[in-house]
Amino acid sequence: MKNIKLAAQTGSGRTVVRVGNVKVGAGFSIIAGPCSVESEEQTLETAHAVKAAGADMLRGGAFKPRTSPYAFQGLGLKGLKILEKAREETGLPIVTEVIDTRDVSWVCEYADVLQIGARNMQNFSLLREVGKANKPVLLKRGMHSTLEEWMNCAEYILNDGNPDVILCERGIRTFENYTRNTLDLSAVPAARELTHLPIIVDPSHGTGRVPLIAPMSLAAAACGADGLMIEVHRNPSEALSDKEQALTPAQFAKLAKQSRAVHKFVGGLE
Ligand code: PEP
Ligand code: MN
Repeated sequence: MKNIKLAAQTGSGRTVVRVGNVKVGAGFSIIAGPCSVESEEQTLETAHAVKAAGADMLRGGAFKPRTSPYAFQGLGLKGLKILEKAREETGLPIVTEVIDTRDVSWVCEYADVLQIGARNMQNFSLLREVGKANKPVLLKRGMHSTLEEWMNCAEYILNDGNPDVILCERGIRTFENYTRNTLDLSAVPAARELTHLPIIVDPSHGTGRVPLIAPMSLAAAACGADGLMIEVHRNPSEALSDKEQALTPAQFAKLAKQSRAVHKFVGGLE
């Protein structure tokens, strides 16, 4: 792989990204929460539920990169304030997406981890901006991206001075359309070979189908992932985005327990 200097494996050990008390890359870190922040009640109720089920961080989109301009675009600043309240109440650090270079500095006032979504993986000005931020970055794999392209995007962030990058495999587009994407779990051991950065898996966007999310979470834990990102809604049928892939809090609780057990069983593949 060419031009990968900062993210390349050096044999000097793996990077652990610290987010408050959470250490991504040491143990198994689970990020859970709604696709979108829809209201204060929905977010707080889901936040308490995922906390009780053992989540380490809360996810929720305030800025949504939607395929259609007519779909729900997120609550913006109001959504970030709701997430702030959820952190106050639960103690869970907040993972939230930033989609515009102009928003990075002020979103940092609310977010504990800045998410770069699949659609923005190669938005180089956005990568440079989060590279200058003093918050960890969760970098999703682009839906049409090779591992080399993905690693180069991590390289942009590292090269601009931010060492705290978490990779997230979320599925790629293939000819298969039964699933929303094709979850490339081989990317997990491959990334562990290529880079010292931690890698987590998002089987929610990776499959887009509720019955597939728990099995693929266990498979992710078995193949060496450092954690998971899972979409959870207090009432999936009412979700304003991605309702087909939202787990109930009870489904999430079972998945969290089982995937931690699998991670323990394989010993983090160390
Ligand atoms: C998300 O996690 O909210 C999201 C939009 O995912 P992706 O960028 O992987 O499609
Ligand atoms: Mn989603």
